[in-house]
Amino acid sequence: MSTGIREAREALKLYFGYEQFRPMQEQIISNVLGGQDVLVLMPTGGGKSVCYQVPAVVMPGLCVVVSPLIALMKDQVEALLVNGIPAAYLNSSQSGEEQYDIENKCLNGAIKLLYVSPEKLLSAGFFSFLKRLQVSLFAVDEAHCISAWGHDFRPEYTQLRALKQQFPAIPVVALTATADKLTQKDIQEQLQLNQPEVFVASFDRPNINLMVQSGQNRLHKITEFLGRHHGQPGIIYCLSRKATESLAKKLKENGYNATFYHAGMNAQLRAKAQEAFLRDDVQIVCATIAFGMGIDKSNVRWVIHYNLPKNIEGYYQEIGRAGRDGAKSDALLFYSFADVINMRNMLSENDKAQTELQLVKLERMQQFAEATFCRRRILLQYFGETMPKDCGNCDICRNPPTSFDGTLLVQKALSAIARTQERVNMSLLVDVLRGSRNSQVLSSGYDRIKTYGAGRDIGTLDWHRYLHQMLNAGLIELAYDQNYTLKLTDQSRQVLFEGRKIELVKFEEVKQQDEPRIKE
Ligand code: ADP
Ligand code: ZN
Repeated sequence: MSTGIREAREALKLYFGYEQFRPMQEQIISNVLGGQDVLVLMPTGGGKSVCYQVPAVVMPGLCVVVSPLIALMKDQVEALLVNGIPAAYLNSSQSGEEQYDIENKCLNGAIKLLYVSPEKLLSAGFFSFLKRLQVSLFAVDEAHCISAWGHDFRPEYTQLRALKQQFPAIPVVALTATADKLTQKDIQEQLQLNQPEVFVASFDRPNINLMVQSGQNRLHKITEFLGRHHGQPGIIYCLSRKATESLAKKLKENGYNATFYHAGMNAQLRAKAQEAFLRDDVQIVCATIAFGMGIDKSNVRWVIHYNLPKNIEGYYQEIGRAGRDGAKSDALLFYSFADVINMRNMLSENDKAQTELQLVKLERMQQFAEATFCRRRILLQYFGETMPKDCGNCDICRNPPTSFDGTLLVQKALSAIARTQERVNMSLLVDVLRGSRNSQVLSSGYDRIKTYGAGRDIGTLDWHRYLHQMLNAGLIELAYDQNYTLKLTDQSRQVLFEGRKIELVKFEEVKQQDEPRIKE
């Protein structure tokens, strides 16, 4: 054991009160102490901070921590001070005098950890200030923000490449809890890390049961779910601020102890909602994704996604707020095709260069929702981990889908699309297949085509699910730019004309819903 690691262990005990490092922490720290650049991928709660805080204490001089989360900086610094580690932060929220005071302390060698926002780091004169200090280490927190491939790209982060140019001899430790494989590579390149050691801790959270249900009758399904989670704290993530408020209101009207949280509320109200949840005064928080960052509540028993998240990174982070204590927890995702379309429209309003990437990420999310094999495998694979076997703790593992020869079913659908000249959207197609007599069917004369009513034996919802499978398999396409009409593809022609056989996954029968007990 090197001296460095022995000192680090003593520091861990002395300042943080922990007996030993978690396995990966020790390796990371010994690399950092050896002057090596490292990239650390560790899920939230994995113990990333120790990986640079302990070296900062052991090394001479000071460690500069770049963090985009000004709100969290203060908490981190306060926690360090309580542990007896001299720390400070610099950001734009402080007065000139305050900043001057901290800079002086740094110059006098009285600070071991200095947290700065990227703006501050890159501001005029700051590099020359740093050059007057003995900087031993740079830590870049939330390092995925540097990559346009990540899901939280912050353009100001890209200038952090200047760090290595200005301070080539000072080791950099980059940390993130969320980066797919491409993003990991990009972080290394952007920060110009010098032959970095990459540490990927397991992202598996085996105690979280992964479930996906269709988005029909969500409210009813939520009340059923809550019936199985009496009094247990949980979060319902919604897409819009308005939705958080209206859902909380409905739940309250139905006797649940719920509140809402979103970034449009003033700081006081937000703090109040957060506090109430932390103290278990409120059971349910209906929130936008703004909720949860930096919230340390270990007994969150469940997370519901009312809508499909934008990407797997976000989904993983949000479900990760459940079960930090390691006890059994549930993650329930509602999935509806309408949500996908909604989200696609939202994404298309964004910056063009980002849109395509975001659409691809959304598609991965959708594939997760429509998975036909172990969901955890899909999730971990996304972050570059492979699982030796299925998890046994997701809805698919518990209830594996069976496949059947769906050729005839697919042929019926394709033929109906062809005979309606590819002019119908999904609902209308299902109406035609089921022989509905609604006015749109009749006025278009679709009741006279050969496949009218040919799919009467299959329920509307099931038809939608099969059509989604066909979409996923590329057997049909959805023309977003032509009123969402369904189009045939080369693959459809193989089924229609070349005798190609198609396996479909069988769904569980959709039971007739009970009358909703809840006011919608
Ligand atoms: P992250 O930044 O990865 O989300 P933190 O650094 O905040 O995680 O650590 C998560 C929790 O684990 C904190 O409460 C921290 O004090 C604790 N922790 C970190 N390292 C250890 C350790 N070696 N032994 C025990 N607890 C630890
Ligand atoms: Zn599984």
